[in-house]
Amino acid sequence: MTNDTIFGRILSGAIPCDEVYSDDKCLAFRDIEPQAPVHVLVIPRKPLPSLKEALPEDAELLGHLILVANLVAKQEGLEDWRTVINCGEGAGQTVFHLHVHLIGGRPLTWPPG
Ligand code: AMP
Repeated sequence: MTNDTIFGRILSGAIPCDEVYSDDKCLAFRDIEPQAPVHVLVIPRKPLPSLKEALPEDAELLGHLILVANLVAKQEGLEDWRTVINCGEGAGQTVFHLHVHLIGGRPLTWPPG
């Protein structure tokens, strides 16, 4: 597993980001092309390319990412929100470093495209 993605470069500090939360396991920052008033990405420091590569040993980390998304949602004053993990190119994944999208601040319809 390499860290050679744009998110790997954000984690190393080579590229700046608009950080909203950070701890020893993950980083959360605003999406550069927001799809809603609040659009934050929560990424693990561990360079997992996608959910496909997650192992049983990653269970705690994956739970942590979702709980951090909750925390940021509350920090942003959201009452309702959506968390999305695109898994693979066919599902819209463009950056191959696992990330949880936190989207909110407007009515969200279902199903997504
Ligand atoms: P996905 O399509 O699920 O892989 O999501 C990748 C997301 O990363 C997209 O919503 C992009 O707008 C976002 N993105 C790409 N580069 C950056 C960056 N440098 N800073 C913040 N968000 C980014």
